[in-house]
Amino acid sequence: MGWNRKVLRVNLTAGTCTPEPLNMAWANDYLGSRGLASKYLVEEIDPKVDPLSPDNKMIMATGPLTGTMASTGGRYTVVTKGALTNAIACSNSGGYFGAEMKFAGWDMIIFEGKSPKPVYLYVENDKAELRDASDLWGKTCWETEETIKVSHQDPQIRVSSIGAAGENAVLFACIVNDLHRAAGRSGVGAVMGSKNLKAVAIRGTQGVSGIKDFPAFLQATSAAKKVLADNAVTGQGLPKYGTQVLMNVINEMGALPTRNHRDVQFEEAGKISAEAMHEKRSTDGKTHLVTNNACFGCTIACGRISRIDETHFSVKNSPKYWGASGGLEYEAAWALGAANGVGDLEALQYANMLCNEHGMDPISFGATVGAVMELHDLGILSKEQIGLDANFGSAEALCKLVEMTAHGEGFGKEIGMGSARLCAKYGRPDLSMGVKGQEFPAYDSRGIQGMGLAYATSNRGACHLRGYTVASEVLGIPVKTDPLVTDGKAELVKAFQDATSVFDAAGICIFTSFAWTLADVQPQLQAACEGDWSMDKLNEVGERIWNMERQFNLAAGFTAKDDDLPPRLKTEPAKTGPAKGLVNGLDKMKPEYYKVRGWTPEGVPEKATLERLGL
Ligand code: SF4
Repeated sequence: MGWNRKVLRVNLTAGTCTPEPLNMAWANDYLGSRGLASKYLVEEIDPKVDPLSPDNKMIMATGPLTGTMASTGGRYTVVTKGALTNAIACSNSGGYFGAEMKFAGWDMIIFEGKSPKPVYLYVENDKAELRDASDLWGKTCWETEETIKVSHQDPQIRVSSIGAAGENAVLFACIVNDLHRAAGRSGVGAVMGSKNLKAVAIRGTQGVSGIKDFPAFLQATSAAKKVLADNAVTGQGLPKYGTQVLMNVINEMGALPTRNHRDVQFEEAGKISAEAMHEKRSTDGKTHLVTNNACFGCTIACGRISRIDETHFSVKNSPKYWGASGGLEYEAAWALGAANGVGDLEALQYANMLCNEHGMDPISFGATVGAVMELHDLGILSKEQIGLDANFGSAEALCKLVEMTAHGEGFGKEIGMGSARLCAKYGRPDLSMGVKGQEFPAYDSRGIQGMGLAYATSNRGACHLRGYTVASEVLGIPVKTDPLVTDGKAELVKAFQDATSVFDAAGICIFTSFAWTLADVQPQLQAACEGDWSMDKLNEVGERIWNMERQFNLAAGFTAKDDDLPPRLKTEPAKTGPAKGLVNGLDKMKPEYYKVRGWTPEGVPEKATLERLGL
């Protein structure tokens, strides 16, 4: 079996920690992690609940491959109703925390209620208890992790925590583990903060036992690792350049959203690219990139560890930021850079470090700053209102705004609402570049048409990790499709969404899908887990997870109207590049997609679809 069959239920109101058996019937239908935790959430909360109320729940969950020798098998997810989106939220993180949860013997931890005072959960194998976190409240994620390790005198404890952003209900607050890995999107950190839960600290020494057929598992995981090693993207591109390898590629194809999506190409993309991170700086002769880095069990190692220029204006008086630290990854570099017209690599790394330190999603933060800069450019927000000149391209403004937002100072409080609420407040809701309240990631859907449909229909709001058709439309994985046409994209988006649901539920990293299809994952799951995990079953599980999440959102009040893109992407053609003259063809793709999904024209799953999936 790939599961420990044990759930820890933590009632923060009562201060109790209670073990219970994992619902194996649900595990059979939803596999684990994103799928299984979402099933628990859907069964246990009112979809209309206020995300920041004690009645919302937050679930940390592993998958059956988490903690095993499957490559990238270190993932864990946080499932809740999102503070930023009001939709179902599932944020996924790497590092080592997920594997440690498995080693301690738990598949899942369910947090409910609200603690009357700040606490952290300490788990040591079977032992679990809530401890006073009064002295941790106010500390950064980095300080919290260090303080917990020192106080328990155990450097091998793994910690997930919130920083000032989560404590202060910044709506895109995230949960940071292992210093620079994060369950980043949809405001899961704000939910954790609303519960007065500062951190979860775990130490597990039990390993992973009970793999159903160990020789078969060894064979399947070894074969799958060879596929990763032999693939040009996962074997060479990602280890050497990280996800940042995409910066120049996406810019050249005219799909790099720039200055709040006014443009689709950034003239300074080369200065913030993966290649630039390898170049020696003129100031100190060192490269920005120090080394690559891997999460638990990962044979790809796409992570970046970088060192900022000590003479840069952002840190010259702050030695604490001079050491090597996580970043930059592509999405953060885009959101902090091109989205704001900022081409200063050191400034981006500084802003990224502050996002990690204080627990903020750099995508939503950076994209919200892009909206602020456009409102400033249009004269809607003055220098006096913002507290500084927030001009497109200003690295100084970016660095100051990240400090203000992290600490909840001045206009930083407004940025902490996210772009949808902020733009609505200032009378221009159309300038928020996102879907369902969540900001877009780094692909302009005028140049990559399928991504427009993937964003619009994503169950957790705009997101690249729910249906990454970039793989097909840009990289030709598993087959090349034309990024500039809408034909066939409904089927493509559905296939990516369903397959991604299975990758997530298994407990592995979605970046394996640059090389793996479900056919590479299937033998690993079949060898690890009892029961039938055939391709047919996995396809059905993926579709079931997607439809279950959809049903939750419909019950929460979302409708087909929310499966939409900002008017800019549908009415303002791309100005340059291969997509010049194009807008996104969502209005053509959406009805096709609903049909392919077995949904009504109003976007509601048909009775026959629900029955087929057992929903
Ligand atoms: S591919 Fe990158 S993000 Fe994924 S598990 Fe490996 S190091 Fe972590």
